Amino acid sequence: MPELPEVETMRRGLAAVAGARIVAVEFPRSHVRPLSIRPGPAVLARRLEGRTIADVLRRGKRVVLELTGAAGRDEPHWLAIEPRMTGLMLVADPPSPEHVRLVLRLAPASRRGPRVVRFWDRRGLGTIRLHDRAAFEAACGPARLGPDGLAVGGDDLASRLSASRRAVKVALLDQRVVAGIGNIYAAEILFRVGIDPRTPCRRLPLGAWARLAAAMRHVLAEAVRLEGSSIDDETYRTADNRLGRFQHEHRVYGRADEPCTACGTPIVRLVQAQRATFFCPSCQARGGSARTNSRGRLGRERSLRVR
Ligand SMILES: [Zn+2]
Repeated sequence: MPELPEVETMRRGLAAVAGARIVAVEFPRSHVRPLSIRPGPAVLARRLEGRTIADVLRRGKRVVLELTGAAGRDEPHWLAIEPRMTGLMLVADPPSPEHVRLVLRLAPASRRGPRVVRFWDRRGLGTIRLHDRAAFEAACGPARLGPDGLAVGGDDLASRLSASRRAVKVALLDQRVVAGIGNIYAAEILFRVGIDPRTPCRRLPLGAWARLAAAMRHVLAEAVRLEGSSIDDETYRTADNRLGRFQHEHRVYGRADEPCTACGTPIVRLVQAQRATFFCPSCQARGGSARTNSRGRLGRERSLRVR
């Protein structure tokens, strides 16, 4: 979970902290699974205190606070937080006190700016990293992350995948191919462009890549507009602790055995690379030759024909 739309929603919800100075850093005591934090909490706190948040960025599925040098004395740093499964970045009160992992107390730039940012993570699989410029480049630069899913082009996908034997759905989860896609949005994007998730990349016709990239940008932008997907136990919340709304637009994800919204065929669930995949066997043709078939507010995808 948190994928590009959820993390982008967190980033936007945190944007008002830009300009604030970090005055205190706390790691609340907890009996739950400890988080992966580097450097360790004591060193991290010392390096963060006194720095100003210059900007709030996103790199793939990470929220990144760009930090100026402490008192202008040293180099900028980047605090990269990856929510992974159940992490949340919050400016509102947390869903529960026991899973708050990091608290940044702030001197805001304006009177209305947030005075606290929390990272909350129930399962504790998230990561917190403080990077200097070289480490940030290594962890979040082009060697590790492909083009962002909101801006990816057909040529980006074709150049990375058109010769690949990998199943297209599995390939889309590779962050070096395209940054930000996870299990939910891979399924929803492939449904909207009418491609069977098992299709080997090299079997897709060349024209499919531009249509796939267009569907990707469109689905992700729509999901950002609706502030992401709160599914199952509704762990995912916006930075001000509200539910996202894109789960109501899901056509295949989590809908095994329910009728396809376009054709009525039961949605199929299968496992690819240890992850669940959902698709419509009627609308999504092997080799990507099916006509795109979707309804409703994402109906513009109808014009995205494969081949
Ligand atoms: Zn269908």
